Amino acid sequence: MPGKSKRPWRKELKKQRRRRRRRKAAVARDLRVEEDEASKLKDPAYQLWLQQQSQLEEEQLRAAEKRHAEEEETWLRRDLLAQREFRLKQQQREAAEAAERAKRKQQAEELAAKEAEQRRRREERERSEAAAAAEFEQMLQCTERFLNTDGPAPAELRRVVESRPGQNLCILYDRTNCCRFGPSCANNHRRPLLSNIIVVRHFFMHPLLEQEEHKEYANADGGLELSEQDLREAYVEFFDDVIPELQGFGYLRNFRTVRNVLRHLRGHVFVEYLEERSALKAFIKLQGRFYAGRQLNVEFSSIENWRGAICGT
Ligand SMILES: [Zn+2]
Repeated sequence: MPGKSKRPWRKELKKQRRRRRRRKAAVARDLRVEEDEASKLKDPAYQLWLQQQSQLEEEQLRAAEKRHAEEEETWLRRDLLAQREFRLKQQQREAAEAAERAKRKQQAEELAAKEAEQRRRREERERSEAAAAAEFEQMLQCTERFLNTDGPAPAELRRVVESRPGQNLCILYDRTNCCRFGPSCANNHRRPLLSNIIVVRHFFMHPLLEQEEHKEYANADGGLELSEQDLREAYVEFFDDVIPELQGFGYLRNFRTVRNVLRHLRGHVFVEYLEERSALKAFIKLQGRFYAGRQLNVEFSSIENWRGAICGT
């Protein structure tokens, strides 16, 4: 295109002219708008309208601000509530965890205490068993020495055995050496480890004594009643049977049989020797032996008042 390249200035000139025209037109247009506006401003109705527009805009702005403020407050309140709820839940969780930890700690402590207590009891039992075994061994040696020599009983055998040390004394046992509750009595049964008197429990048994306890049943059966004569004869027979053997252990000072129908006193025989050594021999020989189908149970006794012991109930 040679024409175009030869006259570039013409095109540029045209372009500048167009631009000037546009600018001029724009200025003229602005001027017209300003003039229009100025002339309109002179009109009171227009001024009122403008004022109203301005107020309206102002009110809209205020309303928007208020709404915005309310929304913000609502949001803040929600946020605050959420935070509070979160903190509350956190506190609850922490409290639950702390409670769980405390519980576990307490359980562990209880278990440890229980185990320690069991260990302590076991050790105590072992100690007490060992002590009892040692004591028994020593007792056997003392007993043997005492039986094989002529001297007085050693101090180890001069002891009083208590079933419940520290508890009230069982008056009945103290008086009669018998108690209906036996070893399960809540009171303290006291007896000497060695004495010159032994008591052989339920040694002399006779149907009449049992019948007297259940008299009404015996009578109802009829014809089974036993007489005092039977009892006396049986007792003489018993006496003749046991006295020689008992005398074999040493000189007898007293031989008393409890004629009491009560079960826990029935047929007990107190044997008093002149010497403790004889009573000890009798104790060793008779303990656990069978007589008339029953195993004998022998204990040392410190009975002083025979009347109280034999008739006591
Ligand atoms: Zn008792």
